[in-house]
Amino acid sequence: MHVRILGSAAGGGFPQWNCACPNCSALRAGTFRGRARTQTQVAISADLRSWFLLGASPDLRAQIEATPELQPHAPSSGDALRHSPIAGAVLANADLDHVLGVLLLRELQPLRAYATDSVRRILTEDNSMFAMLQRVPGQVSWTSFTPRNKFPLLDPANGDSGLHCRALPLGTRYPAYVSTLRQSRLIPGEASLGLIIESPSRERLAYMPAVPQVNAALLEELDSTDLLLFDGTFWSDDELIQIQGGGRTVQTARQMGHVPVSSTEGSLRQLAQLGRPRKIYIHVNNTNPMLNEAGPEYREVRDAGWEIAEDGWRSEI
Ligand SMILES: [Zn+2]
Repeated sequence: MHVRILGSAAGGGFPQWNCACPNCSALRAGTFRGRARTQTQVAISADLRSWFLLGASPDLRAQIEATPELQPHAPSSGDALRHSPIAGAVLANADLDHVLGVLLLRELQPLRAYATDSVRRILTEDNSMFAMLQRVPGQVSWTSFTPRNKFPLLDPANGDSGLHCRALPLGTRYPAYVSTLRQSRLIPGEASLGLIIESPSRERLAYMPAVPQVNAALLEELDSTDLLLFDGTFWSDDELIQIQGGGRTVQTARQMGHVPVSSTEGSLRQLAQLGRPRKIYIHVNNTNPMLNEAGPEYREVRDAGWEIAEDGWRSEI
């Protein structure tokens, strides 16, 4: 399985347009030891010909232009000018920074979009802009899945990619833009998922950008994987409160559905026992001090055997 990390930051990216935190300020000033990052996006392929997106980032257009494998081939005679190696996208939640990119994939290009019924209904029944994806028959094929059940990733013409996916229910909170009425009609277990992708030769990738808590069942699941892309959003539970002050709208990491990296209950400690997967933090918020490669937090994470995702990272498992 070929894995590409096109974007590695949490919502807002790094730097974030309205943020003057120490990280964002230093990056703009050119004094930061570390890289800018676009909003999280992962792409996978079994054959390097058809690719599937995990989520669809608001930065997708620029991410595709930075990734030759995802660009349309130069046409030979008789080929259509409009083409894309991107066969589909698997949506794990309805957060804006995870689904806005689907709107960037319109232009009448056939695409398969995998989502739970709950996420599909939020997007297509409550947000009229998504009608742009249904202008002609066969444009975006919405394909439902249910958590825990393995399903094949198919291209829009039903061609089998060789990849399979299974979603784990992790969080029960829907985004704040989803109306109370709509929320009352949705299945809580479909709100926020982690994805396990399996290759034809059974290598496994775990994609977990939003994990509210770690339990024994999740640890067992993760220890059966070869590559783990895990929630690195916040270093500490009160990170945003420390930086923004305790206004009414500022929440803790856990309230936002993210287990922090540090502390005795943090992911660094709780996932230390995982022996099998290569471990990479992804979906890193611009405020997270581990982005600073000159700082002790970065050193602590690296010394514990973790990597921190960067845009443009590529690997085969
Ligand atoms: Zn910032």
